[in-house]
Amino acid sequence: MEKRFDVAVVGGGAVGCAIARELCRYEQSVVLLEKESDVARGTSGRNSGVVHAGFNNPPGSLAARLCVEGCAGFAAVCRELGVPYRRTGKLVAALEAEDAPALERLLAQGRQGGVPELELWTPRQTRAREPGITSCGALWSGSTGITNPILYTVALAENAQANGAEIILDFAVDTVVRAGDGFVLRAGERALGADFVINAAGLYADRVAALAGDENYRIYPCRGEYLVLDKQAAALLRTPVYPVPRPGVGGLGVHLTPTVDGNILIGPSAEYIESRADTGTTAAVMERLWAEALRLLPALAQSRVVTAYAGLRSKTVPAGAQNFGDFIAEHSRVTPNLINLAGIESPGLTASVPLARLVCRLLREKKPLKPKADFRPERQRGEDFRSSPPERRRAMAAADPAAREIVCRCETVTRREILTALDNPLGVRDLGGIKTRSRAMTGRCQGGYCQQRLAVMLRDEYGIRPADIRLHGRDAWLFTGDVK
Ligand SMILES: Cc1cc2nc3c(=O)[nH]c(=O)nc-3n(C[C@H](O)[C@H](O)[C@H](O)COP(=O)(O)OP(=O)(O)OC[C@H]3O[C@@H](n4cnc5c(N)ncnc54)[C@H](O)[C@@H]3O)c2cc1C
Repeated sequence: MEKRFDVAVVGGGAVGCAIARELCRYEQSVVLLEKESDVARGTSGRNSGVVHAGFNNPPGSLAARLCVEGCAGFAAVCRELGVPYRRTGKLVAALEAEDAPALERLLAQGRQGGVPELELWTPRQTRAREPGITSCGALWSGSTGITNPILYTVALAENAQANGAEIILDFAVDTVVRAGDGFVLRAGERALGADFVINAAGLYADRVAALAGDENYRIYPCRGEYLVLDKQAAALLRTPVYPVPRPGVGGLGVHLTPTVDGNILIGPSAEYIESRADTGTTAAVMERLWAEALRLLPALAQSRVVTAYAGLRSKTVPAGAQNFGDFIAEHSRVTPNLINLAGIESPGLTASVPLARLVCRLLREKKPLKPKADFRPERQRGEDFRSSPPERRRAMAAADPAAREIVCRCETVTRREILTALDNPLGVRDLGGIKTRSRAMTGRCQGGYCQQRLAVMLRDEYGIRPADIRLHGRDAWLFTGDVK
């Protein structure tokens, strides 16, 4: 007989992990099923990392309401989870005088939706905040912030696990069968049972719903590509800067976003594609991103580009549709005990915890939820060597030989930090998991120096042969064998 849970969450993105954590506040058994070998490998690991204020979505929409709620509580959640967060504010810059009415519309929309700290700024005020930005004025949003979306998602999953949730990776749900009032979920030969299923499968939400007999959804992938600048460009910008959004382009426009790690992102583009897995970047879009970025910040230098990536929006409206696709979070209309989330595109990261609360409210309509007395929202996080003051660094190094060795030079990551990342509670043992947890391989050389050292550590600490090491996922091998 397969193991049985009260609730199974399908999808280990920010939304699924927030739901799993929120469900752990109540007395029930929870399992989270993720098809990849780590959480945050879908859209949640491939976005701008902006904690949006909520003025971009139509007032009264679910997206707008949950975004405002998510933004207001984001700093507190990040404090609980030990995740970096910075309240940067944000500028929507008017590049031409004709953009002024659009800024006023955004201001009115935001105020109607209850977004705090919105002001129209003159070119002079804008320059005082961001001297390098070209603009004829801007909309200032004081409550916008930034986070590291991967660490945020990982932290939600780890905290859910610490509070009793089972997190099962490499479990690609391929069959959902009704069994009594509940379900049996299968991934190949493996199976488990659940009374309720929460479908938080992002780009695959329509497919997971269909597996459970609900064919009422359709997802259209829309790719957004980014360029990443190294930290030496950080002095050019401290605030996310957006252009005025153009209707019908499928996103908020190519913006410049500082990251909590000190890089600058340029992007994303918006292009409907067929594939739900094609996160490749393209030369043509890279060129366009660069040209648009230069319009906003002419001092940018192309030599600062260190890498590129892309994320896919899970839209519920097809290309060319002018109507807005709101978040969907609802009981299935055809399959009992199934809750579907679909169309969770931006600002889904910001709204992840409010979405999780909404799922708990939906679940409570079907079964009693009794609060658990011993739920602990806090998560401990290892000390960050790079950002610690010199005297603290000296103390760390004196107390621990592993804190004396710098494994990643670009990001100043110590052997101790790598060991902590290797020892992660979810048991992720691929280089991608270590990279995102420790920042090794994310600097200017992109792993040229430290990747081999990480491979040696994986061999020495866990006995994993280099030829068996993966960058991420089942098929992403890095080494084929010894050269000599
Ligand atoms: C270019 C871009 C920029 C964005 N910028 C921002 C931003 O700055 N701020 C913001 O708030 N939001 C932003 N967003 C939106 C935000 O990233 C998403 O709303 C959010 O990450 C959605 O999370 P999710 O958990 O629903 O989806 P995902 O992160 O995609 O998670 C779904 C998970 O389900 C798993 N899965 C799928 N099928 C199965 C299956 N059969 N079995 C098991 N697991 C399965 C997938 O592997 C995946 O891990 C952006 C999005 C994009 C694309």
